[in-house]
Amino acid sequence: MGSSLLLSPVSLYAKPKKGERWRPAYEKLEEEGKLAQRVQQAYAIFEHCQLCPRRCGVNRKKGEKGFCRAPLRPVIFAAHPHFGEEMSLVGENGSGTIFFSNCNLRCIFCQNWPISHEGRGKEVQDEDVADMMISLQKNGCHNINLVTPTHVMPNILNATRIALKKGLRIPLVYNTSGYERLEILKILDGIVDIYMPDMKYMDSDQAAKYSAGASDYPEVTKKAIIEMNRQVGELQIDKQGIALRGLMIRHLVMPNRVAGTEKFVRWVAGNLPKSTYVNIMAQYRVEYKAFEYPEISRGITVQEFLEAMDWAEKYGLNNLDPQSVANRNFYKFRRSN
Ligand code: SF4
Repeated sequence: MGSSLLLSPVSLYAKPKKGERWRPAYEKLEEEGKLAQRVQQAYAIFEHCQLCPRRCGVNRKKGEKGFCRAPLRPVIFAAHPHFGEEMSLVGENGSGTIFFSNCNLRCIFCQNWPISHEGRGKEVQDEDVADMMISLQKNGCHNINLVTPTHVMPNILNATRIALKKGLRIPLVYNTSGYERLEILKILDGIVDIYMPDMKYMDSDQAAKYSAGASDYPEVTKKAIIEMNRQVGELQIDKQGIALRGLMIRHLVMPNRVAGTEKFVRWVAGNLPKSTYVNIMAQYRVEYKAFEYPEISRGITVQEFLEAMDWAEKYGLNNLDPQSVANRNFYKFRRSN
């Protein structure tokens, strides 16, 4: 396959019927009378927390803390329009990003470690999160981008319902490490419009080594991504190229093939439509405790990025993030001149 396919993403255009506005999934679920039930169902899980595959079983309503160290109320580090995300999320006005503190995965190379590992931020009420959502929408943001949402999913659902009553009408982006339980994703079915999971590793030893013993990460995340695809399908964009609904997978290329990139693209090609949106990311940097592990104590090379993109092409993935494709073309052009 030539590079032309890589230059022509095949995202589907979402066309609302004439005279109708596009509507987020959670609005429809509320109309069906089901959103309140989901909030209740999610909140009940706090009593014996199994929100993620760590399944700590702690009672967060009584103040007990599990592996993620998260309290019952959401802790927020920041909420603002963000221009560093994928172009289809950023558009002209930014992605309305809410950074939740704490994390259920805690990778040793985490680029947000003061937030995720140390839990820096301010504890707020669900109503405050709802107000942040409304404020981001008023700022013109194209979506609500929930960064590290897994351990605060019930709060998010409650906040979404409150915000819906105040006029929230933009899609939720579930921006997750991918370490998600199927049972929990089923609660989100019909609420989340855009899933944006990472696929960090394909090898359980690497997952255990770099992500606090999460050796089941590859198997758990593969199943989670297949479920996400079942719920929302391929990425749909509007006429301005803004993402409305669908699956967007992120894969960070790591030094010395630690992330298993070839296996990853082969798995996507074999288990999902080849037109699945995939972002092969080149921005790995040595953060937090990564410098203690020689094999990941450097950035990636141009060659490592190019081989990753070549594998994606070889296995026929034809909806790669346009910025990654532009970077690849730039490096190839520079090498050939
Ligand atoms: S969300 Fe936190 S407390 Fe709950 S199971 Fe996961 S790591 Fe444990």
